Order: sequence, then structure tokens, then C-alpha cells
Amino acid sequence: MNDCLFCKIVNGEIPSEFIFENDDCVAFKDIHPKASTHILIVPKKHISSIADVSYEDAPLLGKLLNYAREIGEKLSLSGYRLSINVGKDGGQEIFHLHIHLMSNS
Ligand code: AMP
Ligand code: ZN
Repeated sequence: MNDCLFCKIVNGEIPSEFIFENDDCVAFKDIHPKASTHILIVPKKHISSIADVSYEDAPLLGKLLNYAREIGEKLSLSGYRLSINVGKDGGQEIFHLHIHLMSNS
């Protein structure tokens, strides 16, 4: 997606410091953190929204939750919450699927 901000971050067009990366995703700090720790977990594949996923995406979606766990372990977080905004009325601003990982620790 040419004009997608998160695609540009994923492919390095916009520099960002990844705190985690593998074949499926990158993770970086949210620019406007809403908790002491606020990380965005972003699949490398452009998927606009949970509203646009299919059952074919199930393996990737399942892996993203495991990556969230790995990031929580890597950062030694004692707890965290995960959230996904879906659609404008769900608070979604960037239409490239991402999981918010937020923690008070
Ligand atoms: P959402 O509202 O779920 O689409 O979340 C988009 C998030 O992306 C917001 O929390 C923004 O603060 C964050 N954000 C926007 N631009 C950037 C950026 N360049 N780097 C990091 N986070 C960003
Ligand atoms: Zn994208």
C-alpha cells in the first residue's frame, strides 16, 4: 500500500526503532503513548483492519498474540493489555492492522 504509514515503517521508508522484529511483524513504541509502556505490534502484511480479515489470516492472527507474549517477556512486563481498534467508530486511525500492547509497568 503506497500511502500507508505503517507499510512505510515496515519497509524502512520511514525510520523507526523496532523493539521486536521477525518474518511476520515489527513492533515499535507508539508515538503518543497512552500508558507507561505502549507498543504497536504491526504485521508486515498489509491488512487494513480486523473488519477485513478472513479465516486464511487465522495463523497470522494467532501468531501475533504469541509475539505479544514474547514482547511482554522480553520487556519483563508483569502485566499488560492488548487492544485492537476496528473501524473509525472503533477508534481506528491507521488502517493497517495493529495490536496495541499497553502496560503500567
Ligand atoms: P489506532 O487508533 O488503533 O489506529 O492507533 C494508531 C496509533 O498509531 C495511535 O496510537 C498513534 O499514536 C500511533 N501512531 C501514529 N503515527 C505513528 C508513528 N509514526 N509512529 C508510532 N506510532 C504512531
Ligand atoms: Zn499498510
